[in-house]
Amino acid sequence: MSGEIATGEREVQQDSGLGPTGSANALDALRHPPRAPEVVDDPVQAYRRSLPAAVLQGEGKGQGIQPVAEGGNATTFGATTLAEFTGLQWRDVSKQLHPGEAEYFRYGTPISRRVESALAELDCGEAAVIFRSGMAAIWTLIDTLMPLSREVAHFIVGREGYKQTRNILDRLKLRGHVELTEIPMDSFGSLEHLIQPNTKAIFFETPSNPFLKVIDVERVAAQVKSARSDALVVVDHTFANPLNQKPLLQGADVVVPSLTKYIGGDNRTAAGAVIGRSEIVDRVRELRSQVGNIVAEGDCLRVEQGLETLEERNKLSNRNALLAAQILEAHPMVRQVFYPGLPSHADHAVALRQMPGGFGGVVSFQLCSRDFHDVAAFIDTFLRVAPKGSFIGPSFGGEYPLISSVPIVSHFRQTPEERAQRGIPDDLVRLSVGTIPPEWLEEALRAGLLALADRRGS
Ligand code: PLP
Repeated sequence: MSGEIATGEREVQQDSGLGPTGSANALDALRHPPRAPEVVDDPVQAYRRSLPAAVLQGEGKGQGIQPVAEGGNATTFGATTLAEFTGLQWRDVSKQLHPGEAEYFRYGTPISRRVESALAELDCGEAAVIFRSGMAAIWTLIDTLMPLSREVAHFIVGREGYKQTRNILDRLKLRGHVELTEIPMDSFGSLEHLIQPNTKAIFFETPSNPFLKVIDVERVAAQVKSARSDALVVVDHTFANPLNQKPLLQGADVVVPSLTKYIGGDNRTAAGAVIGRSEIVDRVRELRSQVGNIVAEGDCLRVEQGLETLEERNKLSNRNALLAAQILEAHPMVRQVFYPGLPSHADHAVALRQMPGGFGGVVSFQLCSRDFHDVAAFIDTFLRVAPKGSFIGPSFGGEYPLISSVPIVSHFRQTPEERAQRGIPDDLVRLSVGTIPPEWLEEALRAGLLALADRRGS
């Protein structure tokens, strides 16, 4: 009897799994996985409640709506589709969402929007949009500025600007879509005559790599705008960070920081941003929404962590860089030091006005070396004494020192003639000082200089 009952129960369960009785079993669970709890009476309000406060404050969107949690809706983390509604609710939601409000990862996520709000606020821009890398941000901005016609676009770039930006523009030039005017950094004082009817933007970096030249943003903006009001002033805002300078307050239309450097701050986080007026940023965002070059949420959190510690790290690296520049400048084994915080730097006066927060964490210098063996002796000894975590390589802005021979690391693809044309000497060294205790930095620098002196004496 009991056996019959048991068999009967199994049969009933199997039947009910396929039939209309609705009792739960494994098959049913597979077919109808548990749904997120029914959320809403008003789906649009509920969707907006899941967005961070900062998103809702932007451009009058969603006025008066109270976000439930500062961190947005945690249940959306890692999801590609960011809200779940019934068919009728979705019809109503999609009709009412403002352009750019996220409902699919490629358009941005609550966390990416939170990071964007923080970045916009820090740089005093109306809006920001973030990308998987600094170059992804720059490429997308350039593409956004390209005319949707056969018109050839004219761009002006600083000769010392980041080489990959020039490479992008060079490729467009080869295709016949772009006309390019490349100017030495010293010529930024007078450029009205270079602006043409088809000029879309002027791109430059301040401070610049590797000589840390400082371009007077206010002056450039005044010249560009007087010649052509719709040509954009675009500042690559990577070498300083928004706590040291605010180009948007000095007349730039757009800033493009590589967040991989100071803002990520750990040499493990890669991202970039376009920050400026909403009207421009929205166009860039639209293209990102098509391409999907979005920052994954884990990396967004790392950028956020970087932002949380930026103030302290920035203080330490500004302090270390000034100290390093002073030690190097006073040393007989150093030919010349390039750091805008030094009174001897050609652009010190502009830097004092334009960089009220500090002069950044990178110092470049020329050693009194005869050949690359001398330079290598300095670098290798520096690294032997500097704390573990310091190394040779490109990039900057991390907590440990990063040192490089400029011709060997960042300009290695160029021939000696090309380097000479760009004024890059063989003995040029670039040091990102990091946030280590100043006495450790001083010890490593002095050891390197001593090793160089020993070689020169031998
Ligand atoms: N701009 C400058 C001045 C840079 O130094 C770099 C990278 O080194 C970039 C832009 C590009 O940034 P990312 O490496 O994040 O693409």
